[in-house]
Amino acid sequence: MEGVPRAAIIAEVSRKMTEFTAALQERAKTHIKDHLVMVKEQSLVNEMVSKGVVAVHWCGNRECADRLEEIADASVLGTEVRTDLIDQSQGNCIICGKPGSVVTLIGRSY
Ligand SMILES: [Zn+2]
Repeated sequence: MEGVPRAAIIAEVSRKMTEFTAALQERAKTHIKDHLVMVKEQSLVNEMVSKGVVAVHWCGNRECADRLEEIADASVLGTEVRTDLIDQSQGNCIICGKPGSVVTLIGRSY
């Protein structure tokens, strides 16, 4: 890289890093998309969570979360996970059926 100003090298490296990060994020996103599924039936939660991350409607009650973790044999990851990959509209809690429940993700830790 003789004759190339130092600043230009730094700029180039920084550009490459940004590209690299973007590619990683894109790959992670694709991975999540391939493994994220919205489930509306309690009976399907366990099967689907064994394949990836499951999104369900949950009313926010601790008892429902406990029941969910029991049938899924997995952890409720929380409702903070905001992703455009899943439908974020409200629905009925998959456990108690309460309307206006929000989407939460359930997954097994690897
Ligand atoms: Zn509930």
